[in-house]
Amino acid sequence: MTIKQGMKAIGHLDADCFYVSAERVRDGFLRGKPVGVLGNQGACVIAKSYEMKGAGVSTGMPIWDALVKCPEGVYVKRDFRWYEVLSRLMLEVAREVSPRVEYYSIDEFFFTVVEPRGGTFQGLADSIRDRVWERVGVPVTVGIARTRTLAKLISDAAKPFGALAVMDRGAEERLLSDRPVTEITGIAGRRAARLAPWGITTCLDLARADRRLVRSLLTASGEELWWELNGDPVRSVQARRPAHKALSRGGSFGESTSDPAVLHAWLVRNLERLIEELEYHGVSAGRLTIAIPYKSGQLGVGQVNLAVPSDRFDVLLDVARPALRKAWIPRATATHMHVIAEHLTSRSDCSGDLFEPPARGVRARAVAQLKREVNARHGRFALRSAATLALAPIYRDAANSHDICDVRGKSCF
Ligand SMILES: [Mg+2]
Repeated sequence: MTIKQGMKAIGHLDADCFYVSAERVRDGFLRGKPVGVLGNQGACVIAKSYEMKGAGVSTGMPIWDALVKCPEGVYVKRDFRWYEVLSRLMLEVAREVSPRVEYYSIDEFFFTVVEPRGGTFQGLADSIRDRVWERVGVPVTVGIARTRTLAKLISDAAKPFGALAVMDRGAEERLLSDRPVTEITGIAGRRAARLAPWGITTCLDLARADRRLVRSLLTASGEELWWELNGDPVRSVQARRPAHKALSRGGSFGESTSDPAVLHAWLVRNLERLIEELEYHGVSAGRLTIAIPYKSGQLGVGQVNLAVPSDRFDVLLDVARPALRKAWIPRATATHMHVIAEHLTSRSDCSGDLFEPPARGVRARAVAQLKREVNARHGRFALRSAATLALAPIYRDAANSHDICDVRGKSCF
């Protein structure tokens, strides 16, 4: 098959033993040594280097067993806050090469790519891997293919520190013939067992099976995989989630403004309102988007993913500020602002306070609790961030104390 100029493809970037690699970024002593990263309470190995894997240590193994297998290993406690920092740097690189990036997990992104003019997809895969290595210091593997399912299989096959673009059907089939079906995300024990009686054990077997049979065995989601394995992209890169999975706060400023200090004050106000809503629903936000419509008709948008979902003011404000900078068009007059929380997860599902120095989390929760209690007693916004001082007249006017967006169950945009 010949590849046309300007052809589109999907990339998959996946860090190699990410937590270990992240620890090595800040401590060069760990390079080339068997390293294990320990989880909560330091009881289990949640990530290990290739050297430690070679010694027989597996993920989830208790520390006492790991110490027997690998007594010379270096064991460090996880620091998700640091991993989040590096994850964001990797994301930045992905966004430089692609207009559409899906933040799939802390160390894995899918993105769309176009074949570079005068270059190749292989050259692009190499350059993305090298750029992340130079900029972030984390080794990653990059796969580029016609579909996201193929891209992930290819990057898995090219690990570690690999870069591989496969756009040719012959090369795809060679790769698929080596991989068991269970290598495909979404095909584990029970689904694989349904395929086995039909002689479908490799990815290539699945690709060559009758499509209707695959649908009858694995339902519509299995058929999607069938198309994907055969090079027809049916699963797109999800740079945005559907609106109904979002909560948002914002609206008109009343008085339009081009003053960044006033915009910042609005950001804080909207964020405080949004946090009330997150608390009400018992959810944390995994992504925050700031949208600013301008008088000129332009729309500024800034979006930030949180590696660890949060409902906390300090954490959300930290990510909302860079998003505001992205959405800000200097000297243009803004009329509205929307702050949108997406990738909502139940608060019981996320253990944000495990991922940072505990003191910070405890303090933030205490401040949030105090804020809630004071406001419950003395009125909404009686206690609020000083960053909202620029909007004193807005708060003085009781008409502003409840916005159309604050009516629950409504979508504001
Ligand atoms: Mg990884």
